[in-house]
Amino acid sequence: MTWYPDLRSYLEALDAVGDLEHVTREVDWDLEAAAATRLSYERREPAPLFENVTGCGEGFRLLGAPAALSSVPGKPYMRIALSLGLAADATPAEIVEHLARARKRPLVPPRVVPADQAPCKQNILLGDDATLDRFPIPRIHQDDGGRYANTWGVIVARTPDGRWTNWSIARMQMLDGKHLTGLVIPQQHLGMIWGEWAAIGEPMPFALAQGGVPAIPVIGGAALPAGVDEAAYLGALSGEPLDVVRCETIDLEVPATAEIVIEGHLSVTRHVTEGPFAEIHGYAFDDTTLEPEYTVEAITHRDDPIWPFVVPGRPIDETHTVCGPGTSAEALTLLRDAGLPITTAWQPLNGATHILVVTAPQDWRETLPEVSTAEFAHRVGAVLRANRVGPLCPVTYLLDDDIDPSVDGDLIWALGTRVHPTSRKKEWPGTVLPWYSNYTDDERVTGHGSLVVHDGLMPARGGRYVSPATFADAYPEAIRNKVLAAGD
Ligand code: MN
Repeated sequence: MTWYPDLRSYLEALDAVGDLEHVTREVDWDLEAAAATRLSYERREPAPLFENVTGCGEGFRLLGAPAALSSVPGKPYMRIALSLGLAADATPAEIVEHLARARKRPLVPPRVVPADQAPCKQNILLGDDATLDRFPIPRIHQDDGGRYANTWGVIVARTPDGRWTNWSIARMQMLDGKHLTGLVIPQQHLGMIWGEWAAIGEPMPFALAQGGVPAIPVIGGAALPAGVDEAAYLGALSGEPLDVVRCETIDLEVPATAEIVIEGHLSVTRHVTEGPFAEIHGYAFDDTTLEPEYTVEAITHRDDPIWPFVVPGRPIDETHTVCGPGTSAEALTLLRDAGLPITTAWQPLNGATHILVVTAPQDWRETLPEVSTAEFAHRVGAVLRANRVGPLCPVTYLLDDDIDPSVDGDLIWALGTRVHPTSRKKEWPGTVLPWYSNYTDDERVTGHGSLVVHDGLMPARGGRYVSPATFADAYPEAIRNKVLAAGD
């Protein structure tokens, strides 16, 4: 396992295989860097590192598309795989297994290192010096409510009683050099912790960490249960405690190799209009909400800091490459914990995390004797709806594992031929998160709607499975060998 200790060593690895583009021409933080990054997703180009950003200090850089699909042929998942310590050619199923395996290992809490061993303390800005105006914070889409200071950093928050420290990604909009707002959704961990502080009438200390070990944002976008510290899960994933360092002004720790750390407090009340911002679903809706206000009190950063960002929109970008595997791994863990035989779980990237595909091994009937396909699908839904991943999986398809859910051609064939047009499905009342655009506006606002599981398992016909009519399955070996040898 190669574990990159910071963002820079990871970028060197991308650079070595041609998957990083050094953009040396002057690029504006105002839409231009984001537009170039958006194009890089859509053309599957190297990640752009903007080394000359209009109006900001020398050495300050912007990094786009840090964990998008890669430009390297045959290794589409390389950026995610390298971020998680896997080989560059890891498959979706291997990525999900890697994340799921770590859920079964003991948590490894982070190790606090002294400030002089923490690169993120190379520059310490306090008081009036601690201003966001020093940084090339990008404006990301033309209809956004403002510049977005967070799309890829983790927000560190701790409950007032100290029992749970959460690291998660939530978008944050810049209001001015000292203030931000952002989504603080009650069903999400950040919103739960903020709720505990609001209940005692105290502003919540927060730290926003940009960069550092590249696995951090991948885990920050995953779907671990409430109460699980992402930093300790990261230790379980890598096998080593993660180095963290104490903040300057608040009682929190942040990744020691972070590029930039912003410290401060989040207000008790929701009084700032946040948004709009184009999101994971791929659309630029004009939704706004009232959210709390972050106040910036200290900033620390490495020399020549790199500010990473993503440009959410039509798949495929990090909102799909990161949230999808994280949710899939948690679904896989929960389903297997329930004793169900599952080959893999995957949120197809072009489905913008709105659908989950769960596949079952060909011998699943031996593990679940006397269980019908409908009952199997029912059990899958019962597990998902009872857990946090349910709202993250509005539509689930249960399929046989001759289908690779990460191959769109496989998936569309199965959806067209194995999913009944109107029946063979089960619905449950569920929680709807606001970014699932396949629900009605009313369901998105109230947070109530249905989850559905489609039973797309092949029925056993005449006591045997129906085999696909393919070259591999529909011809005897002698004929196949003859055709192959002829090289037709
Ligand atoms: Mn969490």
